[in-house]
Amino acid sequence: MTRVTAYVAPAEAAPLEKALIERRGLGPHDILIDIAFAGICHSDIHTVRGDWGPQQYPLAPGHEIAGTVAAVGSAVTRHAVGDRVGVGCMVDSCGECRSCLRGEEQFCREGAVFTYGSTDRDGTVTQGGYSEQVVVTESFVVRIPDAIPLDRAAPLLCAGITTYSPLRRGDVGPGSRVAVVGMGGLGHMAVQIAHALGAEVTVLSQTLGKKDDGLRLGADHYRATSDRSTFAELRGSFDVILNTVSAPVDLRAYLGLLDVGGTMVCVGAPSEPLPLLVGSLIGGNKTLAGSNIGGIAQTQEMLDFCAEHGIAAEIEVIPASGINDAYERVLASDVRYRFVIDASTFA
Ligand code: NAP
Ligand code: ZN
Repeated sequence: MTRVTAYVAPAEAAPLEKALIERRGLGPHDILIDIAFAGICHSDIHTVRGDWGPQQYPLAPGHEIAGTVAAVGSAVTRHAVGDRVGVGCMVDSCGECRSCLRGEEQFCREGAVFTYGSTDRDGTVTQGGYSEQVVVTESFVVRIPDAIPLDRAAPLLCAGITTYSPLRRGDVGPGSRVAVVGMGGLGHMAVQIAHALGAEVTVLSQTLGKKDDGLRLGADHYRATSDRSTFAELRGSFDVILNTVSAPVDLRAYLGLLDVGGTMVCVGAPSEPLPLLVGSLIGGNKTLAGSNIGGIAQTQEMLDFCAEHGIAAEIEVIPASGINDAYERVLASDVRYRFVIDASTFA
């Protein structure tokens, strides 16, 4: 057991502050990672503000971790000291159930161990990446390709895989008409990935304030949802809508934008329920779906895909002392497009 410096929420909705947390000693299959950068995902904010239910505090959030291997356990074969590596939303699972065998460890029948706020196999509560170091079992550590700088790679570990996975499941490619709702951390990755997959991409944002960035990142069209004519004009024009909005949206309005047989995938996870009139689905054989991150093998596939296509997150690097201000800016949709904490500032 070693103690490392971290930034933790001491209680629900309280500002994050510096504290010491414990990391387990290195087991035979464990990897000790010197964290270089940790992304701030909106899920971190939902979690520590209690949006998704009570948590155990103090809690260090952070599931977009990029760094280098500092030490490896005696039986580790996948990574070596000095390797550039990443850790996303999960740090362990049973490895034997149907979901794990299918490479969907997030749906482990025994319950995946998530990177923070989750009960680990030894009974302790996991602590996330807003810290100097982390210990993770080797099969949940992925390789970050040399082409992607570590700071711009960190957000791929959640925002990247969460958008890549449903786009791949939806067979998005040349000829697909994809709308991305919300141009935040997830949204700006979805635009880049859908464009690289060959789709025609439309951003649906609250305003046109980020239009230039959206087009530069690969969108073909950029429309404001505050302008109600958008919904009339784009009626029936998408095969896939990827909803990344962290607040409730008007499902009926968005489902109306799908063409016959289209699918709206929700990845944004507001705490409030969204009313649904099933006629919005029946009229047009439409599908409303959800998607939860992606498995470990697909996370590696996504990182390799991003490296191959020159894709990475657009980031603003901040010191640990700026975390609470960054949270307020994320909540105000004032993020371009991911805050990434420089882990050298945790100490
Ligand atoms: P984010 O950076 O805050 O982006 C969300 C975007 O949604 C904002 O930038 C904004 O875009 C839009 N938005 C925010 N409030 C809105 C409102 N009231 N009405 C309409 N649009 C609004 O957040 P993120 O990190 O991308 O995460 C987005 C959501 O996905 C969160 O709920 C998060 O918990 C969830 N998430 C889910 C998974 C999963 O596995 N399913 C994984 C990671 C995150 P515009 O300014 O362009 O309108
Ligand atoms: Zn996340």
